[in-house]
Amino acid sequence: MAPKNNTTTRVVLDIKNKISREDYKIIRSKNRKAIIIEIKNKKAKQTDKSKSVKEVVLPEKYTKEKTGSAPGLCTVVIDPGHGGKDPGATGYQKTREKDVCLSLGLKLKKLINSKKGYKAILTRNSDIFLSLDDRGAIANENNADIFISLHANSHEDTRITGIETYYLSFASDEDARKVAARENFTTASKISDLEMIFFDLLQNNKINQSSILAGHVHNAMVSKISDKYHEKIRNLGIKHAPMRVLINTEMPCILIETAFISNPKEAKQLKSLAFQNTLAASIFNGIENFRSARETAFNKTAP
Ligand SMILES: [Zn+2]
Repeated sequence: MAPKNNTTTRVVLDIKNKISREDYKIIRSKNRKAIIIEIKNKKAKQTDKSKSVKEVVLPEKYTKEKTGSAPGLCTVVIDPGHGGKDPGATGYQKTREKDVCLSLGLKLKKLINSKKGYKAILTRNSDIFLSLDDRGAIANENNADIFISLHANSHEDTRITGIETYYLSFASDEDARKVAARENFTTASKISDLEMIFFDLLQNNKINQSSILAGHVHNAMVSKISDKYHEKIRNLGIKHAPMRVLINTEMPCILIETAFISNPKEAKQLKSLAFQNTLAASIFNGIENFRSARETAFNKTAP
């Protein structure tokens, strides 16, 4: 690949086999920042018409079949965001995101492990640093069925409050892009959508399931917290963004921005054990609803 002049880049592909025009497709990404060149693999064509070169060039981790944990057992990997040298966002009265996430994660783990048919594993159970890719790797190694990354939101305007739940896809809006930039330790302009394109092509099922999981967990949190605290919490909705921690994770996965640590009232709530218990219970309700909805859908389609 090389720039030809100021406005044109020339891309040359060396291909062993002869191909004709109907053997390749050029697709432009939605945000117009990337193109995908998809070439049919003629050798694979004889056995499986749908196979194409994209499956050959991608690393195995992108194409591996997800097997899940033991039948009947639902393994949930809980990922308390940040830790160690990375405090995450620092909010009202120096409340640190890494501390509230760990405390909530420990509660959620205990709750899930007390339920029949469930097993919970934490990516970290102490104040240690883990890379974003390591967190997903822990979920993959444990054949998790569900991955949940716990975070707290932050905004320069300390009046802003609310709860939002993310699944992996292109950024749904400018705010989502900013949140992803902060959680990915990068700038909004550097969020690479290229990797996402592969996921769009290959992991549609993971993304669909993740959006459904996000819906169940988010709705359970909003309704339970509103009930318990007799007030409407600001529902910022279900969003999507290229969250690094969700990219290599092979199962339905979401990231929750539980509340704004930058807001005095919500920072206090995040530290309170009662609020953490309510959050943990509602996240578990959401997981239960997701599972039973999936079972119903499976039974409907089964012969
Ligand atoms: Zn975070």
